[in-house]
Amino acid sequence: MMSDKPAGDAGFDRQREQLVARLRAQRIASERVLAAIAATPRELFVPPELRPLAYDDNALPIAAGQTISQPTVVAVMTEALRVEPNSHVLEIGTGSGYQAAILAHLARSVVSVEVHPELAEGARRVLATLGIENVEVHVGDGSLGWPDAAPYDRILVTAAAPEIPAALLDQLRPQPGSRLVVPIGGRDFQSLVAVTWENGEWVERRGGSVRFVPLRGEAGWSDTEWSTRRHPFSRWRRKHNP
Ligand code: SAH
Repeated sequence: MMSDKPAGDAGFDRQREQLVARLRAQRIASERVLAAIAATPRELFVPPELRPLAYDDNALPIAAGQTISQPTVVAVMTEALRVEPNSHVLEIGTGSGYQAAILAHLARSVVSVEVHPELAEGARRVLATLGIENVEVHVGDGSLGWPDAAPYDRILVTAAAPEIPAALLDQLRPQPGSRLVVPIGGRDFQSLVAVTWENGEWVERRGGSVRFVPLRGEAGWSDTEWSTRRHPFSRWRRKHNP
């Protein structure tokens, strides 16, 4: 089995085209999002021994016990974020850097925060290899956002949070078009929540179900809460939804 094909390998290029065709068939409608996925070699963001699986529609293990998200989920979340060419974007949970690379294709600038230094380092390396220069990767507790580069036009959280982290809303520009997308829930059930600025207030909408590793840190899940599968919606104040 070939496990160390170089970038630009024709086999991977063909698999990437097939992935984009599958996503289109699954009703990912944004041509900008599809083009960003078509331009991003996922095989470079997975451990070398897993490269043959890079274009399967699965999450895969990366360092530090974390995962690179499933391509379908990346596509759905990216589309839900509605990034514009002039957007300044914050991503929480850099992981492999794959989602950050896709955001970089769509946005003016991306700030991505990762709690595990070795993942941040690995992501920086791959992004540099690809010549992507509009992403800054920082090590820290992203449940508190990254105030130094705020305000943001879009914020994407790629780990499951118990509720909407207050610091993230504080760092989102209060203007029409601004958008926060975050999986809310525990180990067993999470749904994608989008928060937008409408008529002078933040409005939450719940979308489809997803499955992410936990957001840690101050506004994230503690180990015990996560592993006792406590359901978050009991303490989730849904101000604007009926
Ligand atoms: N977006 C990633 C996948 C994210 S997996 C990709 O494209 O590969 C979720 C990531 O969130 C993990 O790497 C995990 O370490 C990170 N994470 C969890 N809690 C965090 C926190 N409080 N701050 C920053 N990163 C966090």
